[in-house]
Amino acid sequence: MPPITRPRGTNDLLPAESGLRQWVIETHRRVAAAHGYQLIDTPVFEATEMYERGTGVGTDVVEKEMFSFTDRGGRALTLRPEGTPGVLRAVLAAHLEQAHRPVRVHYAGPMFRYARPQAGRYHEFWQLGIEAIGERSSALDAEVIEVAWRFYEALGVTGLSLQVNTLGDLDDRLRYRAALVEYYTPLQERLCEDCRRRLAVNPLRLLDCKRDSGLVSGAPQIGPSLGPESQAFFAEVTALLAAAGIPFQLNPRLVRGLDYYAHTTFELWHESLQGAQNALGGGGRYDGLAEVLGFPATPGCGYALGVERTLAVCREQGLGPAARREQVVVLGIAGTDTPAAAAVARRLRMAGITAALDASDRRLDRRLAAAARQGARAVVLVGEAEAAGGSATWKDLDSGRQETAPVDEVAGALRRLLAGG
Ligand code: AMP
Repeated sequence: MPPITRPRGTNDLLPAESGLRQWVIETHRRVAAAHGYQLIDTPVFEATEMYERGTGVGTDVVEKEMFSFTDRGGRALTLRPEGTPGVLRAVLAAHLEQAHRPVRVHYAGPMFRYARPQAGRYHEFWQLGIEAIGERSSALDAEVIEVAWRFYEALGVTGLSLQVNTLGDLDDRLRYRAALVEYYTPLQERLCEDCRRRLAVNPLRLLDCKRDSGLVSGAPQIGPSLGPESQAFFAEVTALLAAAGIPFQLNPRLVRGLDYYAHTTFELWHESLQGAQNALGGGGRYDGLAEVLGFPATPGCGYALGVERTLAVCREQGLGPAARREQVVVLGIAGTDTPAAAAVARRLRMAGITAALDASDRRLDRRLAAAARQGARAVVLVGEAEAAGGSATWKDLDSGRQETAPVDEVAGALRRLLAGG
Protein backbone atom coordinates (compact mmCIF):
# COMPACT_ATOMS: atom_id res chain seq x y z
CA MET A 1 0.00 0.00 0.00
CA PRO A 2 1.55 3.40 -0.91
CA PRO A 3 1.85 5.78 2.05
CA ILE A 4 -0.75 8.53 2.37
CA THR A 5 0.52 11.84 1.01
CA ARG A 6 -0.15 15.47 1.93
CA PRO A 7 -2.89 17.12 -0.16
CA ARG A 8 -1.65 19.30 -3.00
CA GLY A 9 -1.02 22.91 -2.10
CA THR A 10 -0.67 22.28 1.64
CA ASN A 11 2.36 22.43 3.92
CA ASP A 12 3.40 20.61 7.07
CA LEU A 13 4.76 22.82 9.79
CA LEU A 14 7.59 20.75 11.23
CA PRO A 15 9.11 21.48 14.66
CA ALA A 16 12.30 22.92 13.12
CA GLU A 17 10.19 25.62 11.43
CA SER A 18 7.56 26.13 14.09
CA GLY A 19 9.73 28.44 16.20
CA LEU A 20 10.13 30.86 13.30
CA ARG A 21 6.40 30.92 12.56
CA GLN A 22 5.49 31.33 16.22
CA TRP A 23 7.91 34.23 16.40
CA VAL A 24 6.35 35.89 13.33
CA ILE A 25 2.82 35.48 14.71
CA GLU A 26 3.81 36.62 18.19
CA THR A 27 5.64 39.66 16.80
CA HIS A 28 2.51 40.61 14.87
CA ARG A 29 0.37 40.18 17.98
CA ARG A 30 2.76 42.35 19.97
CA VAL A 31 2.95 45.14 17.38
CA ALA A 32 -0.83 45.12 16.81
CA ALA A 33 -1.48 45.11 20.58
CA ALA A 34 0.89 48.06 21.01
CA HIS A 35 -1.43 50.01 18.67
CA GLY A 36 -4.57 48.99 20.61
CA TYR A 37 -5.67 45.98 18.54
CA GLN A 38 -7.15 42.96 20.34
CA LEU A 39 -7.30 39.36 19.17
CA ILE A 40 -10.40 38.11 17.37
CA ASP A 41 -11.01 34.59 16.11
CA THR A 42 -13.78 33.64 13.71
CA PRO A 43 -14.85 30.33 12.08
CA VAL A 44 -12.68 28.68 9.44
CA PHE A 45 -15.82 28.08 7.37
CA GLU A 46 -18.71 30.44 6.78
CA ALA A 47 -21.78 30.72 4.56
CA THR A 48 -20.69 30.67 0.90
CA GLU A 49 -23.02 33.61 0.34
CA MET A 50 -20.93 35.78 2.64
CA TYR A 51 -17.92 35.46 0.33
CA GLU A 52 -20.03 35.74 -2.82
CA ARG A 53 -21.36 39.03 -1.51
CA GLY A 54 -18.36 40.20 0.51
CA THR A 55 -15.32 39.04 -1.41
CA GLY A 56 -17.33 39.61 -4.53
CA VAL A 57 -18.62 37.79 -7.57
CA GLY A 58 -16.29 38.89 -10.38
CA THR A 59 -13.13 38.28 -8.35
CA ASP A 60 -10.87 35.31 -9.12
CA VAL A 61 -11.16 34.23 -5.51
CA VAL A 62 -14.92 33.75 -5.71
CA GLU A 63 -15.12 32.61 -9.32
CA LYS A 64 -12.32 30.07 -9.34
CA GLU A 65 -10.65 29.60 -5.99
CA MET A 66 -13.15 28.78 -3.26
CA PHE A 67 -13.19 25.50 -1.37
CA SER A 68 -16.97 25.20 -1.15
CA PHE A 69 -19.07 22.31 0.11
CA THR A 70 -22.56 21.44 1.22
CA ASP A 71 -22.91 20.19 4.77
CA ARG A 72 -25.19 17.33 5.78
CA GLY A 73 -27.97 19.80 6.42
CA GLY A 74 -27.77 21.13 2.85
CA ARG A 75 -26.12 24.45 3.80
CA ALA A 76 -23.65 25.95 1.30
CA LEU A 77 -20.39 26.60 3.15
CA THR A 78 -16.91 27.72 2.14
CA LEU A 79 -13.51 27.43 3.81
CA ARG A 80 -12.56 31.06 4.35
CA PRO A 81 -10.47 32.48 1.48
CA GLU A 82 -9.80 35.69 3.46
CA GLY A 83 -10.40 37.06 6.93
CA THR A 84 -12.10 40.43 6.50
CA PRO A 85 -15.75 39.46 5.77
CA GLY A 86 -15.88 37.03 8.71
CA VAL A 87 -14.27 39.49 11.12
CA LEU A 88 -16.61 42.29 10.04
CA ARG A 89 -19.62 39.96 10.36
CA ALA A 90 -18.55 38.92 13.87
CA VAL A 91 -17.92 42.49 15.07
CA LEU A 92 -21.19 43.88 13.67
CA ALA A 93 -23.31 40.90 14.80
CA ALA A 94 -22.03 41.47 18.34
CA HIS A 95 -22.62 45.27 18.00
CA LEU A 96 -19.09 45.97 19.23
CA GLU A 97 -18.99 49.18 17.21
CA GLN A 98 -21.88 50.56 19.26
CA ALA A 99 -19.87 50.43 22.47
CA HIS A 100 -16.68 51.93 21.17
CA ARG A 101 -15.40 53.17 17.81
CA PRO A 102 -13.24 52.21 16.14
CA VAL A 103 -13.22 48.53 17.01
CA ARG A 104 -9.59 47.51 16.61
CA VAL A 105 -9.00 43.78 16.13
CA HIS A 106 -6.23 41.55 14.84
CA TYR A 107 -6.25 37.92 13.73
CA ALA A 108 -4.01 35.08 12.59
CA GLY A 109 -5.19 31.92 10.93
CA PRO A 110 -5.37 29.60 7.92
CA MET A 111 -7.08 30.65 4.67
CA PHE A 112 -7.96 28.46 1.69
CA ARG A 113 -7.84 29.22 -2.02
CA TYR A 114 -7.87 26.81 -4.91
CA ALA A 115 -5.21 28.55 -7.03
CA ARG A 116 -2.56 26.60 -8.95
CA PRO A 117 0.08 25.78 -6.32
CA GLN A 118 3.55 27.22 -6.83
CA ALA A 119 6.22 28.87 -4.68
CA GLY A 120 4.42 31.40 -2.48
CA ARG A 121 0.95 30.24 -3.54
CA TYR A 122 -0.79 27.42 -1.73
CA HIS A 123 -4.24 25.96 -1.22
CA GLU A 124 -3.89 26.43 2.51
CA PHE A 125 -1.90 29.39 3.77
CA TRP A 126 -1.90 31.67 6.79
CA GLN A 127 -2.71 35.32 7.01
CA LEU A 128 -2.12 37.89 9.71
CA GLY A 129 -4.46 40.83 9.67
CA ILE A 130 -5.96 43.77 11.46
CA GLU A 131 -9.26 45.60 11.00
CA ALA A 132 -10.27 49.03 12.34
CA ILE A 133 -14.06 49.16 12.16
CA GLY A 134 -16.61 51.92 12.71
CA GLU A 135 -14.81 55.11 11.81
CA ARG A 136 -13.95 56.84 8.58
CA SER A 137 -10.83 58.83 9.19
CA SER A 138 -7.64 59.27 7.23
CA ALA A 139 -5.75 58.79 10.51
CA LEU A 140 -6.98 55.21 10.62
CA ASP A 141 -5.91 54.44 7.05
CA ALA A 142 -2.45 55.73 7.94
CA GLU A 143 -2.49 53.81 11.23
CA VAL A 144 -3.33 50.52 9.52
CA ILE A 145 -0.46 50.99 7.07
CA GLU A 146 1.84 51.94 9.93
CA VAL A 147 1.03 48.77 11.91
CA ALA A 148 1.99 46.62 8.89
CA TRP A 149 5.16 48.64 8.44
CA ARG A 150 6.14 48.45 12.13
CA PHE A 151 5.49 44.71 12.10
CA TYR A 152 8.05 44.12 9.35
CA GLU A 153 10.37 46.55 11.07
CA ALA A 154 10.06 44.55 14.33
CA LEU A 155 10.93 41.37 12.41
CA GLY A 156 13.98 43.15 11.02
CA VAL A 157 12.88 42.75 7.39
CA THR A 158 14.57 45.13 4.96
CA GLY A 159 13.93 45.70 1.25
CA LEU A 160 10.21 46.41 1.58
CA SER A 161 8.39 48.66 -0.80
CA LEU A 162 5.12 50.25 0.25
CA GLN A 163 2.79 51.01 -2.66
CA VAL A 164 -0.19 53.25 -2.00
CA ASN A 165 -3.07 54.54 -4.04
CA THR A 166 -6.57 55.86 -3.60
CA LEU A 167 -9.73 54.57 -5.20
CA GLY A 168 -11.72 57.63 -4.22
CA ASP A 169 -15.41 57.27 -3.43
CA LEU A 170 -18.14 55.60 -5.45
CA ASP A 171 -18.78 58.62 -7.69
CA ASP A 172 -15.07 58.92 -8.45
CA ARG A 173 -14.94 55.29 -9.35
CA LEU A 174 -17.95 55.50 -11.65
CA ARG A 175 -16.14 58.28 -13.52
CA TYR A 176 -12.95 56.23 -13.60
CA ARG A 177 -14.78 53.14 -14.78
CA ALA A 178 -16.25 55.12 -17.66
CA ALA A 179 -12.78 56.38 -18.59
CA LEU A 180 -11.44 52.81 -18.60
CA VAL A 181 -14.32 51.54 -20.71
CA GLU A 182 -13.73 54.35 -23.18
CA TYR A 183 -10.03 53.45 -23.39
CA TYR A 184 -10.40 49.69 -23.61
CA THR A 185 -13.47 49.31 -25.82
CA PRO A 186 -11.66 50.07 -29.11
CA LEU A 187 -8.87 47.69 -27.98
CA GLN A 188 -11.18 44.74 -27.29
CA GLU A 189 -9.75 42.60 -30.06
CA ARG A 190 -6.33 42.73 -28.41
CA LEU A 191 -7.54 41.77 -24.92
CA CYS A 192 -7.22 38.30 -23.43
CA GLU A 193 -10.36 36.29 -22.91
CA ASP A 194 -10.54 37.08 -19.17
CA CYS A 195 -10.15 40.79 -19.82
CA ARG A 196 -12.92 40.90 -22.40
CA ARG A 197 -15.18 39.55 -19.69
CA ARG A 198 -13.75 42.00 -17.12
CA LEU A 199 -14.50 44.89 -19.44
CA ALA A 200 -18.17 44.02 -19.17
CA VAL A 201 -18.30 42.99 -15.52
CA ASN A 202 -15.56 44.80 -13.68
CA PRO A 203 -13.38 47.18 -15.76
CA LEU A 204 -11.10 48.19 -12.85
CA ARG A 205 -9.78 44.66 -12.77
CA LEU A 206 -8.35 45.11 -16.27
CA LEU A 207 -5.47 46.90 -14.58
CA ASP A 208 -4.52 43.69 -12.73
CA CYS A 209 -4.00 41.71 -15.92
CA LYS A 210 -0.48 40.38 -16.33
CA ARG A 211 -1.03 39.30 -19.95
CA ASP A 212 -2.30 42.65 -21.17
CA SER A 213 0.30 44.70 -19.30
CA GLY A 214 1.28 46.52 -22.50
CA LEU A 215 -2.21 47.98 -22.70
CA VAL A 216 -2.32 48.68 -18.97
CA SER A 217 0.58 51.13 -19.21
CA GLY A 218 -1.42 53.33 -21.57
CA ALA A 219 -4.65 53.17 -19.57
CA PRO A 220 -6.01 56.31 -17.88
CA GLN A 221 -5.12 56.83 -14.22
CA ILE A 222 -7.62 57.49 -11.47
CA GLY A 223 -6.24 60.94 -10.57
CA PRO A 224 -8.37 63.02 -12.96
CA SER A 225 -11.52 61.15 -11.82
CA LEU A 226 -11.07 62.05 -8.15
CA GLY A 227 -13.31 64.69 -6.59
CA PRO A 228 -11.86 67.32 -4.21
CA GLU A 229 -12.96 65.44 -1.06
CA SER A 230 -11.22 62.24 -2.08
CA GLN A 231 -8.12 64.16 -3.04
CA ALA A 232 -8.06 65.84 0.37
CA PHE A 233 -8.59 62.53 2.19
CA PHE A 234 -5.69 60.92 0.34
CA ALA A 235 -3.45 63.94 0.88
CA GLU A 236 -4.08 63.54 4.62
CA VAL A 237 -3.16 59.85 4.52
CA THR A 238 0.10 60.45 2.68
CA ALA A 239 0.98 63.43 4.91
CA LEU A 240 0.46 61.23 7.99
CA LEU A 241 2.66 58.50 6.52
CA ALA A 242 5.36 61.03 5.79
CA ALA A 243 5.07 62.41 9.33
CA ALA A 244 5.48 58.86 10.67
CA GLY A 245 8.67 58.52 8.67
CA ILE A 246 7.27 55.72 6.50
CA PRO A 247 8.55 55.78 2.91
CA PHE A 248 5.98 54.97 0.24
CA GLN A 249 5.50 55.02 -3.48
CA LEU A 250 2.38 56.33 -5.17
CA ASN A 251 1.12 53.61 -7.49
CA PRO A 252 -1.89 54.65 -9.57
CA ARG A 253 -2.23 51.08 -10.92
CA LEU A 254 -3.03 49.62 -7.53
CA VAL A 255 -6.77 49.00 -7.70
CA ARG A 256 -9.40 46.75 -6.23
CA GLY A 257 -12.29 45.98 -8.45
CA LEU A 258 -15.11 45.90 -5.95
CA ASP A 259 -17.48 48.70 -5.21
CA TYR A 260 -17.22 48.49 -1.46
CA TYR A 261 -13.57 49.51 -1.49
CA ALA A 262 -12.99 53.21 -1.06
CA HIS A 263 -10.13 55.59 -0.64
CA THR A 264 -6.81 54.14 0.47
CA THR A 265 -5.45 50.92 -0.96
CA PHE A 266 -1.93 49.63 -0.37
CA GLU A 267 0.40 46.71 -0.86
CA LEU A 268 3.73 45.75 0.63
CA TRP A 269 6.12 44.27 -1.90
CA HIS A 270 9.41 42.59 -1.27
CA GLU A 271 12.29 42.57 -3.69
CA SER A 272 13.18 38.93 -3.01
CA LEU A 273 9.74 37.57 -3.90
CA GLN A 274 9.30 36.73 -7.54
CA GLY A 275 6.95 38.17 -10.15
CA ALA A 276 3.24 38.02 -9.50
CA GLN A 277 3.88 36.61 -6.02
CA ASN A 278 5.91 39.59 -4.84
CA ALA A 279 3.25 40.99 -2.51
CA LEU A 280 3.68 40.20 1.16
CA GLY A 281 0.24 41.62 1.77
CA GLY A 282 -2.08 44.49 1.27
CA GLY A 283 -5.17 46.21 2.43
CA GLY A 284 -7.20 49.34 2.43
CA ARG A 285 -10.53 50.90 3.22
CA TYR A 286 -13.77 48.99 2.64
CA ASP A 287 -16.52 51.40 3.66
CA GLY A 288 -19.25 49.65 1.64
CA LEU A 289 -18.63 46.08 2.81
CA ALA A 290 -20.89 46.10 5.89
CA GLU A 291 -23.94 46.96 3.79
CA VAL A 292 -23.08 44.30 1.24
CA LEU A 293 -23.18 41.79 4.11
CA GLY A 294 -26.60 43.06 5.21
CA PHE A 295 -25.53 45.24 8.16
CA PRO A 296 -26.00 48.99 8.63
CA ALA A 297 -23.37 51.00 6.72
CA THR A 298 -20.18 50.93 8.78
CA PRO A 299 -16.78 52.10 7.55
CA GLY A 300 -13.66 50.04 8.06
CA CYS A 301 -10.12 49.47 6.95
CA GLY A 302 -7.52 46.79 7.44
CA TYR A 303 -4.91 44.57 5.89
CA ALA A 304 -3.96 40.93 5.37
CA LEU A 305 -0.36 39.73 5.23
CA GLY A 306 0.79 36.34 3.99
CA VAL A 307 2.63 34.31 6.60
CA GLU A 308 4.38 31.89 4.21
CA ARG A 309 5.79 34.71 2.10
CA THR A 310 6.84 36.56 5.25
CA LEU A 311 8.62 33.41 6.46
CA ALA A 312 10.38 33.07 3.10
CA VAL A 313 11.73 36.62 3.43
CA CYS A 314 12.79 36.03 7.05
CA ARG A 315 14.63 32.86 6.03
CA GLU A 316 16.37 34.61 3.19
CA GLN A 317 17.47 37.46 5.43
CA GLY A 318 18.51 35.14 8.26
CA LEU A 319 15.91 36.58 10.63
CA GLY A 320 14.38 34.67 13.49
CA PRO A 321 13.95 34.57 17.23
CA ALA A 322 17.20 35.04 19.10
CA ALA A 323 18.60 31.52 19.39
CA ARG A 324 17.83 30.49 22.93
CA ARG A 325 18.51 27.02 24.12
CA GLU A 326 16.06 26.88 26.94
CA GLN A 327 15.56 23.22 27.20
CA VAL A 328 16.84 20.79 29.78
CA VAL A 329 16.75 17.02 29.26
CA VAL A 330 16.21 14.84 32.31
CA LEU A 331 17.39 11.23 32.18
CA GLY A 332 17.32 8.26 34.50
CA ILE A 333 20.77 6.70 34.55
CA ALA A 334 19.32 3.20 34.24
CA GLY A 335 15.93 2.29 32.76
CA THR A 336 14.59 1.62 36.27
CA ASP A 337 15.41 5.23 37.26
CA THR A 338 12.93 6.68 34.76
CA PRO A 339 10.04 7.13 37.24
CA ALA A 340 12.37 9.02 39.60
CA ALA A 341 13.64 11.10 36.65
CA ALA A 342 10.03 11.86 35.65
CA ALA A 343 9.35 13.13 39.18
CA VAL A 344 12.43 15.40 39.02
CA ALA A 345 11.38 16.71 35.58
CA ARG A 346 7.94 17.52 37.03
CA ARG A 347 9.48 19.49 39.91
CA LEU A 348 11.71 21.41 37.49
CA ARG A 349 8.69 22.34 35.35
CA MET A 350 6.89 23.56 38.45
CA ALA A 351 9.92 25.80 38.98
CA GLY A 352 9.40 27.23 35.49
CA ILE A 353 12.01 25.22 33.60
CA THR A 354 11.35 23.56 30.22
CA ALA A 355 12.26 19.97 30.97
CA ALA A 356 11.90 17.07 28.53
CA LEU A 357 12.14 13.52 29.85
CA ASP A 358 14.34 11.03 28.04
CA ALA A 359 12.65 7.72 28.75
CA SER A 360 14.55 5.61 26.23
CA ASP A 361 16.55 2.57 27.27
CA ARG A 362 19.54 3.27 25.01
CA ARG A 363 23.09 3.53 26.33
CA LEU A 364 23.66 6.60 28.51
CA ASP A 365 26.42 8.06 26.30
CA ARG A 366 24.10 7.88 23.28
CA ARG A 367 21.31 9.57 25.20
CA LEU A 368 23.63 12.36 26.33
CA ALA A 369 24.77 12.87 22.73
CA ALA A 370 21.12 12.95 21.61
CA ALA A 371 20.30 15.61 24.25
CA ALA A 372 23.16 17.79 22.97
CA ARG A 373 22.06 17.30 19.36
CA GLN A 374 18.54 18.36 20.13
CA GLY A 375 19.88 21.64 21.51
CA ALA A 376 19.54 21.07 25.26
CA ARG A 377 21.50 23.55 27.39
CA ALA A 378 21.91 21.11 30.25
CA VAL A 379 21.07 17.56 31.28
CA VAL A 380 19.87 16.37 34.64
CA LEU A 381 20.84 12.85 35.65
CA VAL A 382 18.87 10.87 38.18
CA GLY A 383 20.32 7.56 39.47
CA GLU A 384 19.48 5.34 42.37
CA ALA A 385 21.61 7.30 44.83
CA GLU A 386 20.18 10.66 43.77
CA ALA A 387 16.61 9.35 43.86
CA ALA A 388 17.10 8.04 47.40
CA GLY A 389 18.61 11.32 48.58
CA GLY A 390 16.11 13.68 46.87
CA SER A 391 18.91 15.11 44.75
CA ALA A 392 19.93 15.19 41.11
CA THR A 393 23.09 15.79 39.12
CA TRP A 394 23.00 18.54 36.54
CA LYS A 395 25.52 19.10 33.81
CA ASP A 396 26.11 22.22 31.75
CA LEU A 397 26.56 20.88 28.22
CA ASP A 398 28.61 23.91 27.15
CA SER A 399 31.21 24.06 29.92
CA GLY A 400 30.99 20.44 31.03
CA ARG A 401 30.58 21.62 34.63
CA GLN A 402 28.70 19.09 36.76
CA GLU A 403 27.17 19.26 40.24
CA THR A 404 25.00 17.10 42.48
CA ALA A 405 22.57 18.95 44.73
CA PRO A 406 19.04 18.75 46.21
CA VAL A 407 16.44 19.11 43.44
CA ASP A 408 15.35 22.60 44.58
CA GLU A 409 18.91 23.83 44.38
CA VAL A 410 19.32 22.21 40.96
CA ALA A 411 16.23 24.11 39.83
CA GLY A 412 17.72 27.39 41.03
CA ALA A 413 21.07 26.69 39.36
CA LEU A 414 19.35 25.76 36.08
CA ARG A 415 17.21 28.89 36.16
CA ARG A 416 20.32 31.02 36.51
CA LEU A 417 22.05 29.07 33.75
CA LEU A 418 19.12 29.39 31.33
CA ALA A 419 18.73 33.09 32.07
CA GLY A 420 22.36 33.47 31.04
CA GLY A 421 23.59 34.24 34.60
P1 AMP B 1 -4.98 39.07 -0.63
O1 AMP B 1 -6.01 38.77 0.41
O2 AMP B 1 -5.19 38.33 -1.90
O3 AMP B 1 -4.68 40.53 -0.78
O4 AMP B 1 -3.64 38.41 -0.05
C1 AMP B 1 -2.87 39.01 0.94
C2 AMP B 1 -1.59 38.23 1.09
O5 AMP B 1 -1.87 36.88 1.46
C3 AMP B 1 -0.80 38.07 -0.22
O6 AMP B 1 -0.01 39.19 -0.45
C4 AMP B 1 0.02 36.84 0.08
O7 AMP B 1 1.15 37.15 0.89
C5 AMP B 1 -0.93 36.00 0.87
N1 AMP B 1 -1.62 35.04 -0.02
C6 AMP B 1 -2.74 35.23 -0.77
N2 AMP B 1 -3.06 34.12 -1.45
C7 AMP B 1 -2.13 33.19 -1.13
C8 AMP B 1 -1.91 31.83 -1.50
N3 AMP B 1 -2.74 31.18 -2.33
N4 AMP B 1 -0.83 31.20 -0.98
C9 AMP B 1 0.02 31.83 -0.13
N5 AMP B 1 -0.14 33.11 0.27
C10 AMP B 1 -1.20 33.79 -0.22
